[in-house]
Amino acid sequence: MNPEVVDRLSVAAIEDFSVPERLGIPVRRHVSLAPLTTIKVGGPADYFATVQTVDQLLKLVRWARSVGLPYFILGGGSNILISDAGIRGLVIENRCRQVRVDPAPCCAFPRDDRPYLFAESGAAMAGVARQSIRAGLTGLEWAVSIPGTVGGAVVGNAGAHGGEVKDCLDYALVLDEHDEVREYTVADFAYAYRDSTLKRQKLLQAGFKPVVLSANFRLPYGEPEVGRALAEGYLAHRRRTQPVEPSLGSTFVNPPGDFAGRLIEAAGLKGARVGGAQVSELHANFIINPGGVGSATARDVLALMELIQTTVHRRLGVELVPEVQLVGEWT
Ligand SMILES: Cc1cc2nc3c(=O)[nH]c(=O)nc-3n(C[C@H](O)[C@H](O)[C@H](O)COP(=O)(O)OP(=O)(O)OC[C@H]3O[C@@H](n4cnc5c(N)ncnc54)[C@H](O)[C@@H]3O)c2cc1C
Repeated sequence: MNPEVVDRLSVAAIEDFSVPERLGIPVRRHVSLAPLTTIKVGGPADYFATVQTVDQLLKLVRWARSVGLPYFILGGGSNILISDAGIRGLVIENRCRQVRVDPAPCCAFPRDDRPYLFAESGAAMAGVARQSIRAGLTGLEWAVSIPGTVGGAVVGNAGAHGGEVKDCLDYALVLDEHDEVREYTVADFAYAYRDSTLKRQKLLQAGFKPVVLSANFRLPYGEPEVGRALAEGYLAHRRRTQPVEPSLGSTFVNPPGDFAGRLIEAAGLKGARVGGAQVSELHANFIINPGGVGSATARDVLALMELIQTTVHRRLGVELVPEVQLVGEWT
């Protein structure tokens, strides 16, 4: 374990969980995280708690900070490879899932009739997209096929089919490092392709990082029938082109002007295996774990990622950069 973490843990005597328990948040020890990720890989959390409301999330994070207990926010676990040794500190599973459409303020100047689509950070991004279509809004249809939560999407600037969070978000409420709840605009996140200021702050280990509490999207009204047809088309495209086995989606970001999947396939790696991890035959940028929980290890997945990177570099001269984040304790 990281000596700095040991120090913080022992000094703060964090095993007194009476405060979270008074908040109605039971804290469990040594909880396996693999079932909570889409690739079904990863070791245990030292401590684990689930929050259902933003108030609980805020209070739990503030308590963890006050006793020096590093925490890690787990959304849908669809973009992280958790090490086999697991995560030291407290893993907070985010189930804050309220979503609603609020009318635009009538006194807004200049006049802007677009409503606010408010979503707590643990809401499923795909569900928010479906709700936007039901409300007659347009612009978020691309998200109907994206796994994971609003928080994960805001952190990673998730996107598909030409749309991304950056184009639809108005602002997000964030608990910052100074313990203040602040409105972050798109400019504050300095979004780039699958990247943001939050993602750039090394999230490899549990720590004391900012937490996304909720997001407000601002979308124009459109034709619900057109929105529904677009969403159906995107879902059908996914079903045709992406594997159904457990995975983390795209393993590497697309290099400028090319596709990581095309390069991996051209390097002859479709179907390549390390242990229980395999390069998908259907989409070469997906590493799959066909055996589910207990089959591939995080080491297998990482070794396969390294094999892909070295082979693509040697054969095609391109450096592939991981899109997935490696989290937890790696030796
Ligand atoms: C089959 C499949 C297809 C996919 N297709 C796409 C795609 O088309 N486009 C795309 O962009 N992505 C895609 N992904 C990747 C993934 O769905 C997105 O990156 C998603 O936005 C991650 O959200 P999550 O809730 O699962 O985040 P997690 O994986 O749980 O977390 C990711 C990071 O965000 C942090 N985080 C999560 N919530 C918060 C919060 N509230 N506050 C602070 N930090 C937080 C975590 O600590 C972690 O560092 C795909 C994944 C799969 C499995």
